[in-house]
Amino acid sequence: MDNTSEELDILRDKVRGLTIEIMRAVHERMEFARKIGEVKNRLGIDIKDEKVENDIRMRVMLLAEEIGMSTEFALQLLNVLLAESEHVQVQKSEQKIVKKQTHLSIFSKARQLEASGKKIIHMEVGEPDYSAPERVGAALADSFKMKYYHYTDTQGIAKLRDAIATKEGGGISKDQVVVTPGGRFAVFSAITSLLRAGQELIVIEPAWPAYKECADFVGARTKILRTTLENKWAPDIKQLEDIINSSTKMIVLNYPNNPTGKVLDHETMEKIVLLAKEHGLYLLSDEVYADYVFGEFRSILKYDYAKSIVVGSFSKRYAMTGFRVGYGIANKDIISRMARVQAVAITSVAEPMQRAALAALEVDPSQNIQLMKSRLGFVCSKLKKMSLRCVEPDGAMYVYPKLPKGEDLPIVEKLLEKGVAVAPGTGFGDGYKRFVRISACQPEKMLEEGLDVMASVIREEV
Ligand code: PMP
Repeated sequence: MDNTSEELDILRDKVRGLTIEIMRAVHERMEFARKIGEVKNRLGIDIKDEKVENDIRMRVMLLAEEIGMSTEFALQLLNVLLAESEHVQVQKSEQKIVKKQTHLSIFSKARQLEASGKKIIHMEVGEPDYSAPERVGAALADSFKMKYYHYTDTQGIAKLRDAIATKEGGGISKDQVVVTPGGRFAVFSAITSLLRAGQELIVIEPAWPAYKECADFVGARTKILRTTLENKWAPDIKQLEDIINSSTKMIVLNYPNNPTGKVLDHETMEKIVLLAKEHGLYLLSDEVYADYVFGEFRSILKYDYAKSIVVGSFSKRYAMTGFRVGYGIANKDIISRMARVQAVAITSVAEPMQRAALAALEVDPSQNIQLMKSRLGFVCSKLKKMSLRCVEPDGAMYVYPKLPKGEDLPIVEKLLEKGVAVAPGTGFGDGYKRFVRISACQPEKMLEEGLDVMASVIREEV
């Protein structure tokens, strides 16, 4: 054996030994975490403890600096450990997650009831009841005639990307656009391509559940910033600043918001952008409801921040949910990362659907917007009469009222028995069991009928 291979053998032996030691230490750590879970459970203490987490994070950062280790890598390892501790504690705890009910699980239950012959008023799902534009149907038929049914560039056909760039305005080029199967996939590809295991993103709740689900998918951690009805669903910027730490990589914004309909004012947006700039964070701005705005709204694109990503969709604007066409807009580097996820997963969005979306962009959706506005106004005035508090939405398609008594899940179940589907508040965040989300994607008459049933169910609550 020559000297080099002997040296290699010795080094490899050391690495093997250390790896085994690390594994033993990690196992021991998990045993302690499990015991902490038992104690917390006995004392009825919340599993999450930001103060304890921050303290250990500080210590690890100091240690990393002292021993000359990359702090980013040290924090990444720590976050994996913290996530696992939380996981074992939840398993030990009575706070164990019972499968969460969301707007989608209620929608699926409602569908099953319908299949068995029950009549259901759908106020749970965000799917407009009106038809997609005629022109879209013609474009689909044309696609067949013209043989527009091939693989396309992963980012999408150039004409569509050009048209999206023009619609969004502000000097965007088609290379900054990726056409995705629905806005949902743009959210997925942004989060999974920009975040790694152990890194953190911040979600402002109440929120559409997909952001956290995408983060879970890559082992990233979600930090929650709660907002309240009392504060008109505005995020507290000081609190936002406090939860940013060196592992934070992204803030997710969704305005107009699902489920509250909130739109942030310009000043608040500026403060958030400033914070993102200071800490070098990505800003993922889900703007799929940007067309349903009843006052002023500025896209994140107007803030000229290089690390922002806009998510848009054809689903809501043109009632084209089943076409599955959405898009992401960002700088070229971010778009190429998102496109890589898309290339691996789906090659491209179906060409006929892209052609249909292109045709849709020629249609003015203002009638849809007016209709939604008047329905939301109707729902709000009806809720007021029922003594349910809500903030009147600035946009989107939903109202998120507070129940005068009782909790969301039993009420949602009772309503479903009576043929009315609404979304439980807790589907949008753990702290919202006194809320339900009402979608205004139904004709006014149906909404009235559904809300009358809701009034009678709430009256029966003790
Ligand atoms: N973002 C938000 C906030 C949503 O509510 C939805 C749909 N419910 C989407 C994105 C995704 O819509 P789609 O995939 O149909 O474009």
